Amino acid sequence: MRDKNFLIETNAKPIWHPMAHPAEMRAQPPRIIMKGDGVHVTDIDGRRVIDAVGGLWNVNLGYSCDPIKQAIADQLDALPYYSGFRGTSTGPSIELAYELTEWFKPEGMVRAFLTSGGSDSVETALRLARQYWKIKGQSDRTKFLALKKGYHGTHFGGASVNGNANFRRNYEPLLPGVFHVPAPWTYRNPFNETDPAKLAQLCAANIEDEIAFQGADTIAAFIMEPVLGAGGVIVPPDSFMTLVREICDRHGILMIADEVVTGFGRTGAWSGSRLWGVKPDMMTIAKAIASGYFPLGATLIGDKVAEAFEADTTSFGSIGHGYTYSGHPVGCAAGIAALAETKRLRLDENAAARGKELATALEELKSKHVLVGDVRCKGLMAAIELVADRDTKKVIDKKLIAGIADATYDSGVMIRVSGNNIILSPPLILSAVDVVTIVQGIDAGLSAAT
Ligand code: PLP
Repeated sequence: MRDKNFLIETNAKPIWHPMAHPAEMRAQPPRIIMKGDGVHVTDIDGRRVIDAVGGLWNVNLGYSCDPIKQAIADQLDALPYYSGFRGTSTGPSIELAYELTEWFKPEGMVRAFLTSGGSDSVETALRLARQYWKIKGQSDRTKFLALKKGYHGTHFGGASVNGNANFRRNYEPLLPGVFHVPAPWTYRNPFNETDPAKLAQLCAANIEDEIAFQGADTIAAFIMEPVLGAGGVIVPPDSFMTLVREICDRHGILMIADEVVTGFGRTGAWSGSRLWGVKPDMMTIAKAIASGYFPLGATLIGDKVAEAFEADTTSFGSIGHGYTYSGHPVGCAAGIAALAETKRLRLDENAAARGKELATALEELKSKHVLVGDVRCKGLMAAIELVADRDTKKVIDKKLIAGIADATYDSGVMIRVSGNNIILSPPLILSAVDVVTIVQGIDAGLSAAT
């Protein structure tokens, strides 16, 4: 690798970064991260900070997971790649698919379609949903319903069901036949409803209205995150996902749970669906599946959908969809090792325990800093929403929040800013001491910048 000076000098010049303006990145080049160990990362200047972002909601096992590294090295020696397209398969892809269907048996998942990440998994689920209805002889069912503020990746299908204008406007026109309904967000919702149970009912009624307006027999699927992540850690009321399941059942609509963030323990349960006690028809997973050590994802298929495909005698059942890296043997080996470690360390339980400590500490921060308008947590996913004024909930100035993030970094804690939210999604191996360190860093960041 070239030397440090070359990297600093070149930095953002040849790269266009995801989710960033190229000119802004050139003007203010990003931090270059060089090393990781445990829950820490070290930048090019040798600064070691605790990573409260967990890479990007994905490095659940931290940066020193030897079993994953070993599994990758062993698989590279044995077979670095072979295709999973019709006619061939590999050992790790078979084993990973088996592990996944065992893992998500309580959610009713019986088959896995392997992908290279979350956007691929969402795209796969949307396509399979449409195909399912063709097999069932209801080819008018092509539309999708989704939540405003939801995030489902950046392929055209995923961007179309995304509920945030930032990820849509520059790429329109998107997929036709996609409709969005309000998210059950107690802090900001169009009904000004703060009671969670009432809000869930209002949002459910809204979904019913939209279905009646569109015609249930035109809707293929409803997609939602069990806890909305990128949209600002919006934790739905306890009853909401069950209400959506009931509505979908009543109208024969497929339910897709996008578990790319919530899968594998982040919320304190092995999945967001399990957290809320719901069985979706399909699930999308990625991120923690290989803890960030390899790009990997999967779309999981529930028994009803699987049965339709496997019993199909029409011309519609063959899957005309897939990726060169579907079932990549090295990625699958990484995934198998990551899942084994995740289970061995009971990361769901640790996320629940550390999450409670984090939530309590963040509430204390809220009482100390007037800039904190709202704190939202579920397990080890959290958002601190910053406002210029608590009464009007006016959003905080962009420069101020960037300053807070920098000051927090200077205090030894990496956080991520999304809109007017500080987003936290640390590795799930976090200790109680790490929780204290993270909150102290944010406290210092808030104090320094205000
Ligand atoms: N779905 C959800 C809920 C996500 O949070 C993300 C990414 O953050 C995606 C899909 C897209 O995943 P990827 O970035 O791996 O394509």
